[in-house]
Amino acid sequence: MTSTVQGIVFDIRRYSVHDGPGIRTAVFLKGCPARCAWCHNPESQRSDVELMHWPQRCVACGACVAVCPRKAVSMVIGPAQDAGDADGQGGGTQARPVIQFDMCDACGTCVEVCPRQAVTLVGRWMSVADVMDELERDRPFYDQSGGGVTFSGGEPLAQPDFLLALLKECKRVDLHTCVDTSGIAPPEVVQAMIPWVDLWLYDIKSVDDAAHCEHVGVSSRIVLANLSKLASASANVAARVPVIPSFNDTEDDMEAIARVLAELEGKRPLRVHLLPYHVLGEQKYERLGRGYEMRLLRAPSQELMERLARVFVREGFQTRIGG
Ligand code: SF4
Ligand code: SF4
Repeated sequence: MTSTVQGIVFDIRRYSVHDGPGIRTAVFLKGCPARCAWCHNPESQRSDVELMHWPQRCVACGACVAVCPRKAVSMVIGPAQDAGDADGQGGGTQARPVIQFDMCDACGTCVEVCPRQAVTLVGRWMSVADVMDELERDRPFYDQSGGGVTFSGGEPLAQPDFLLALLKECKRVDLHTCVDTSGIAPPEVVQAMIPWVDLWLYDIKSVDDAAHCEHVGVSSRIVLANLSKLASASANVAARVPVIPSFNDTEDDMEAIARVLAELEGKRPLRVHLLPYHVLGEQKYERLGRGYEMRLLRAPSQELMERLARVFVREGFQTRIGG
């Protein structure tokens, strides 16, 4: 019998080719214990349903203001955004809704009345059966390509009961499983998942504990302890290293990570994926009413990525740039 446990999911992406072998469906679970400043999925961080506002779609009709039971939306008059001089003078004014996100409880009333889908809810509660129904739709693609399902986030291990139930159901129906994780979870949670995961996509951001605490918000010790546990269990692991400017983008940073990976039992994992920082998540912060701290940073150059990749190649790891 399929488990009755439910979890909160913020996205399901079909036909993914960057989240493990073959063609996959990626299921993104909401909620994450880390607070990486560079996170490109800020809507994944909180573990509850939340509201997003899309200014480009909004026609300032005011319907959301009229219906909000918590008075979290108000209409303000400001300079028109697409007119006026370079200094913003003389271009007229326009009305626009301003959402006080700290007053919003994501009741969804404004979403129902908005004529332009300019407000949306992120996150929905799903049962294991709901998710499996979605996954089964693309079974022919998995079978032809050697693909399957990847559970990502957020941090999928932050919903351990839901994830474990999903993994067991996937194996019962013979689906290949990947878990894309930060490794930030209690060791007993990782242990419980091991028999049900075909491939771990395991983030290693830094082995410098002070830097990890400062920029991720959590000690690196738990990440490395869980990685060691996976290596000892001969789990199939690909280490994923996000390359973040001003955080870990030097050869010294990569050499430190490579040394830790090389010392793991059985010299696992054998594969390393270097993931260049990108700014694609920037607009999402604005839609959620949050600031984006990484605004001034640029993506690392291809030349730098290749230089950093050679560090892992020298240590004997199969290394590639990208997921
Ligand atoms: S209801 Fe939608 S389109 Fe109208 S002001 Fe609100 S967000 Fe904008
Ligand atoms: S989701 Fe509910 S509380 Fe939040 S802005 Fe819309 S109507 Fe108001």
